[in-house]
Amino acid sequence: MNQPPKFCPYCGAPVVGVDSPMLGEVETPMVYRCDSCDDYVFYNPTPGGSAAVLDGDRLLLVEDFRSPGEWKLPSGRVELGESPREGVARELEEETGLAVDPEDLTYFYDEAGEPAPEQYMVGINYAVRREQTGGCLRAGSDAIDAQFFTPEEFATSEHSLKHTHVDRFGDSLEWLVDEARAALERAQDDPDDR
Ligand SMILES: [Zn+2]
Repeated sequence: MNQPPKFCPYCGAPVVGVDSPMLGEVETPMVYRCDSCDDYVFYNPTPGGSAAVLDGDRLLLVEDFRSPGEWKLPSGRVELGESPREGVARELEEETGLAVDPEDLTYFYDEAGEPAPEQYMVGINYAVRREQTGGCLRAGSDAIDAQFFTPEEFATSEHSLKHTHVDRFGDSLEWLVDEARAALERAQDDPDDR
């Protein structure tokens, strides 16, 4: 659930406290108490994640189909039954055509945010080298374009980063490339450290 709950999912009664935060509230704004069945109603973030694919000094970005001209890491929300790695691997292939074994993804960063009003997310982000992926690079069904850029190439292009990307990773691709590369180097030194 990533909208404030209006009804109890167990008994269907309107949740007290959403519109009147002083009534029935246990801990604002994440947990509510149902006055009808007395159960707790949680307002939790949705899990998502991104893939930082590195090809030498270049980082793979996609142009978001929702906002042409704005670029971001290949990313999306975890679906039912998926682990975070499996969700990120699926999103990478859907958006860029590159296939990766979820086990080859290396964790490097996590974050929490509110990309739209009252829609909370947590993001779990993985790095992978281009040579660990298979398939041909091509923009997928939910991306307009997919390209590798060095931070300098992107900064001097006419493209811009999507605001949700900046909220999650800052406006510096250097930071992202450095963090992803450092995690990949640690994983290479110690394959259990992923
Ligand atoms: Zn209830």
